[in-house]
Parts: sequence; structure tokens; C-alpha cells
Amino acid sequence: MNKQVIVRFAPSPTGYLHIGGARTAIFNWLYAQKTGGKLVLRIEDTDVERSTEESIKGIIEGLKWLGISWDEGPYFQSQFIEDHKAAAQRLLESGHAYRCFCTKEVLEQKREEAYKKKTDVQYDGTCRKLPKEEVEKNIEKGLPFTIRLKVPEGNGAVRFSDIVYGDIEKKYRDIEDFVILRSNGQPLYVLSNAVDDIRDGITHIIRGQDGLANTPKQILIYQALGVPLPKFAHMPLTLDSKKAKISKRKHGEIVAVHFYREHGFLPWALVNFLALLGWSTVDSRQIFSKEELLDAFSLEGVNRSNSVFEIRRDDPKFFTDPKALAINSHYIKTLPLEELAPYVKIELEKAKIWDEAYETEKRDWYLQTLDLIRSRYHVTTDFITLGRAYFSDDYDLDPKALEKNVLKHEDLKEWLPLIAERLDKLDEYSLEETERVIREVAEELTVKPGVLINGIRTVVTGQAVGPGLFDVLMAIGRDRVVARLRKTPILWGQVYS
Ligand code: GLU
Repeated sequence: MNKQVIVRFAPSPTGYLHIGGARTAIFNWLYAQKTGGKLVLRIEDTDVERSTEESIKGIIEGLKWLGISWDEGPYFQSQFIEDHKAAAQRLLESGHAYRCFCTKEVLEQKREEAYKKKTDVQYDGTCRKLPKEEVEKNIEKGLPFTIRLKVPEGNGAVRFSDIVYGDIEKKYRDIEDFVILRSNGQPLYVLSNAVDDIRDGITHIIRGQDGLANTPKQILIYQALGVPLPKFAHMPLTLDSKKAKISKRKHGEIVAVHFYREHGFLPWALVNFLALLGWSTVDSRQIFSKEELLDAFSLEGVNRSNSVFEIRRDDPKFFTDPKALAINSHYIKTLPLEELAPYVKIELEKAKIWDEAYETEKRDWYLQTLDLIRSRYHVTTDFITLGRAYFSDDYDLDPKALEKNVLKHEDLKEWLPLIAERLDKLDEYSLEETERVIREVAEELTVKPGVLINGIRTVVTGQAVGPGLFDVLMAIGRDRVVARLRKTPILWGQVYS
């Protein structure tokens, strides 16, 4: 029987959870779920200067919001420093590592020489050859030392097969005897990371492509410690449309998970979008439920070529990748209303236009209205911008719509209040009756019904486009429609009395 899969997401808490990190988390989570394995969350907080509590909180909140659950942790790397030191000690004792007494100045000199020789191998192994007596003398004298791993000599190479990048080899002679413990006793990240993975029993290391640079060294650590190697799967980089690497520094908040939460993304829509960065099905399908994603996803299917995250800053309608917006829009349009409702509630509450009755006696109205207006929306914030007039009397009129559909037709100043009166007097305020009234008035005034319809829509909803007008009139309700139409002359700067 195969061993249970154990994967981990190991973010460094030096900033917010960004889309690249979230994608790595998603791939780990999918793989664990798919194989009946476990996901460990390990916060790599050993870089004390750059790690912050706020970042830890942000990462955990971001994962929870996305719906990514883990089975173990969060563990904190800083709690295991003693383990890392002990591993260095074991390597020293087993002869796989050695003490290096070279001073800063000496190392600097070696670095310069290496630079001149155009080689990456800066350390030439001077202390590897120190006789035992000399080592002991140095220790006695209290000379500071680092601990370096002995990279095997000769023509061999570290070889491994990455699930995504295939066969990779790095020649021993191109890897220097690297430091695993500093002279102040602190372990280096490359050691801590490997020791933690060994302790946590990680079977598959799924991480960003930038981790590839550390992999040969980590494999040497595994081998020196005499433990079996995990499998590696490095995820391709995500680039922007100009082929620059996506980064917090360059792109700012737009690459942060919280940005999507604040800008009206549904968590599953973002997971669905991120899961497709670097991977696709043959038919380039875009919409996946959780079950479908679990079914279709495989690490072997991840593409080697870099994925593109398109940011179009020039068009505010596309404040982020158009594919991400299209996917989010799909979910807004198709989610069962009871599932969508809580997300819209968050927006209405933020805008301070939430009514508790939407949970009770106005529940049906609330759900029907969401259903009526959602078909054109991309983000849940559209409900409080484009859809604000359904939930509040305090809404703005889109200036272009106002100009084109209202102000240009001065007669509407009288016509719309007239319609208000007719609607007010109707015995039955219904789809058929409101339509009849408006067509009737159009005939009486010998004006095209479209002029009245566009004018009414703009005044009553603030928007030029939307669902069928008579449905809109039903949703907004007689009293509010009448009041809004009566106030039309105000739009010309006059007060109607
Ligand atoms: N802590 C590393 C990072 O946030 C990840 C290292 C790894 O996954 O091995 O980039």
C-alpha cells in the first residue's frame, strides 16, 4: 500500500497572502484532498526581522476565507529551532558536515576570487581539510565557526525528477559546501526548511518555482541525514501581461487575496480562477465545482510554461484579470440564491443599507431582487453600486444616463410626474397594469414608449441598463417608484412642489 500523502503550505509571514501563495496553497490542498492525504500549515517565521504577527493573521484569514482547510498546524518554524540545530549537530557527528573557522575577511577574499573566476562556488573547502587536532585547538581557543555541509566530491551530481519540470541535475562541483549553521548558532533557512519537512513527514513538496534553487541543497541534506527523499513539484511562475513576475512590490494590492475579498469576489470563484493558473483541461474549461476540480486536477497536468495573470489598469471595468472577472460573474449569476445572499449582505452592511427584515418578512423580496439584478454583475460590490437604488433611496444617477435619457428630453419633467400620478391611482399595481399605463401615456403624448421607459429606468434606478423595466417597477415597489418619478423635475435644478 502506498504511504499516505502529506503535503504542506509553508508561507513566510513577511506580507499579505498573495495570489501566487494562494495558488500554491490551493494546489497542495487539492492534492491532499484528492489523494486522501493531509495538509500541514507551517508558518516559516524564522526571518525575525521581516516576519510580522499581522502577516500571520492575514495569511490564516485569507486561507479560511478561500475555504482552504488544513489538517495539522499551524506550526511555527521558530518553535523548532532546537530541532534544526540538533540536525546540524548530527551531521557534524556523522562526518557529513564540518566546522569552518574562516573569518569574514578570508571569506570575502574567496568571494572576490570566485567572482574573478566567474564561478558560483565561492567557498573552496579550506576547513574541510583541517586536521582534527587543529579543529580541537581552534575550539579550545574559542574561535567562532559556522557548520558547513560536505558536498560529495567528484564528477557526480544531485539528480531528481520534478513532477512538473522533469529531470533536473546539478553537478556536485557546482555546489559549494554551504553553511547550515551560522557562527551565532542560528540555523540557515535551507536546513530549517528541510528538517521541518522531514519531521512533518512531508511526502510531496509542492511549492513555487523559486524553491527550485534550494532543492539540490535540500536533497543533499536529506541524503546526509539518511532519510528518503520526498517528491518535488514546482509550480510555474505567474507573470503579468508584460511578462514581468507578479510581485507585491511591483503590483501592489492587486496581487493580494484580501483585495479580491474587498472587491466583491466570491471565495470559490477566486479558488477556481487561481487553480487554472498553470494548469488546464484539454477543452480549456473554466468553471469547476469543488468536486469537478478534484476530479480533473493532477500535478502531472501542471504546465511548465509560466502562467499569465492579466492586469489591465487602463480600464476600470477590468480592474483585474478579465478571466477572473468572468469566472466571478458566472458564480454571481448561477449560485443558489441562499448561497449568494450572505455575500451580498456583507456589502449592504458595509454600505450601511442592510435591513434586518431581509432575513425575515422581506426575505422573499430580497432573494427575488438579487435574482432580478444579478445577471449583469461581475462582483458583489455591484449590488451596492449599480444596484444601490433597490436597497436605498439615497442613490446617485449615472451622469451619462442622466444626460442621455433624461435631461435631453425636457418634456420628461412633466411626463414622468404624470406617470407617477397614474401609477399611484392604479387599482392593481402589477406587471400588466404598469406596462399598460406607460404605453397609454406614450400614446396620449405621441411619444415613443422607449423615451418614457429609458427615462423612468434612469430616474428610478440611476442606471441606463438593467432588467426589464416592468420587473424593475415591481421590485422597487409602487410607493418608491411614485416618489422617485414625482421628484424628476429636481434633476433640472427645480424643486417640485
Ligand atoms: N517559505 C517559503 C516562501 O514563503 C516557501 C518555502 C517552501 O515551500 O519550501 O516562499
